[in-house]
Amino acid sequence: MKSLYGKFVLSSVLVLAAGLVLSYLIVNSAYHRVMKEDNDAKHVAIAGSMAGFIGENDNLDLDRYLRTQADAGYILYATDREGGGTFYGGPFDDQTLPPGTVENVLSGEIYHGMRDLPAETFWAGYFANDLANTAGVPFTYDGRPHALFIRPDIALLFNELHWLTAIMLVSIAVIGFLAVLLTAKHLIRPLTELTEATNRVAEERFTDLPDIRRADEIGQLSDSFRRMAGKLAENDLARKAFISDVSHDFQSPLQNMKGYATLLMDPELSAGRRLEYAEIIRSESSRLSVLSGQLLVLTSIDQFKELPEHNVFSVSEQLKETVRKSRWPFEEKGISVTLDAEEASVRGDRELLGKVWENLLSNAAKYTPEGGEVLIGVSGAADFVTVTVEDSGPGIPPGERDRIFDRFYRSDKARSAGGGTGLGLSIAKGVIALHGGTISAGESPAGGARFTVTLPKKRPA
Ligand code: ADP
Repeated sequence: MKSLYGKFVLSSVLVLAAGLVLSYLIVNSAYHRVMKEDNDAKHVAIAGSMAGFIGENDNLDLDRYLRTQADAGYILYATDREGGGTFYGGPFDDQTLPPGTVENVLSGEIYHGMRDLPAETFWAGYFANDLANTAGVPFTYDGRPHALFIRPDIALLFNELHWLTAIMLVSIAVIGFLAVLLTAKHLIRPLTELTEATNRVAEERFTDLPDIRRADEIGQLSDSFRRMAGKLAENDLARKAFISDVSHDFQSPLQNMKGYATLLMDPELSAGRRLEYAEIIRSESSRLSVLSGQLLVLTSIDQFKELPEHNVFSVSEQLKETVRKSRWPFEEKGISVTLDAEEASVRGDRELLGKVWENLLSNAAKYTPEGGEVLIGVSGAADFVTVTVEDSGPGIPPGERDRIFDRFYRSDKARSAGGGTGLGLSIAKGVIALHGGTISAGESPAGGARFTVTLPKKRPA
């Protein structure tokens, strides 16, 4: 039995059958412990009342009286000696009594056959239609001692009850079995649907997800599955878009290089042109080298669950050093750079954070027009350090302030100006997130861009 459906049905049927067997055993034990004694006492009392009635009526037609009792639903045996007597109703299946029983009753004892019959089961005890399974009392008739043995005629009295009980048991079994089949189907169908959907998702087909609306655990499983499939579909799209962006960004500089290299092969080319084309090829190849370096950083950030390196170091010192190193592009455009840095340290990866500051400063230099100004601030609070980089450039329109952190996102202006890969800020965001911090873009007081980075002093464990 391999399927869950089969197992469920089989185990439910076994439970049902075990329930029936167990309830039979319980009824059996209840009969032997409690009811057997009561049943015996009840019939001894009935037999006693018959005996009393016979004793009180001297002219009674005994034979007729006992026949009437038989018609009322009893099987009787009346005798005045050992080995002989008359049976009424019935008949008994076994007409023997334990030896000496009649003798004892004739001498005044009461016979408790219903209580003392050695029967293992309720069935054999309650229903055994034997003379030994009777209540026996003495009575006097015609001046002579007699013995009267009685038991109810079960077949006559309880015939309808037998049928009703049998119909009830069969109905319980059939209805129970059908209910088990339906419940199993209801429970297992969504699991089958989910399994099929899992197989589709494994083949990267994210459509036709089962819509199972239930409040139970299967409903929760289905919700989690839909969320997971949604996330996988999103990742799949992002991965495909990433690959297409990467190939496009590699393709265009390569095409340029190929084109200018072909032009360079012209022997008639003037020295001035030759230099110009060689310069274009150099700048395109350095763009490719930056791009592949950034891709490597991005992939490694993606793989990190936590920072591989972390030391405590001064962010202010690191920024001072970065400003010193990237002075040239600012000086070239006559941009004034002011650094207002409080002493502040963080725990983190020095090299990765260095890339963030380099990117923010190179963007500031790139987008700020000649003669503009750039302000860099570092301030430390109790739990975190804030770094701001403001410029007097064109700024970033509010609608783009979130998207500039997406991979390969470049504003149209930046795109048409050429240069830049659109990866710098997404790397910055990844690095800051790895440090448990945040980075956001806003507007500087001079109307340019303002980047704010906050880093927790103690990195979350
Ligand atoms: P790149 O600068 O290589 O294009 P980035 O990821 O560093 O890539 O930046 C993404 C985009 O954000 C840029 O193309 C530009 O449109 C915008 N941007 C970044 N820094 C500035 C800034 N200081 N001023 C104006 N726009 C900016």
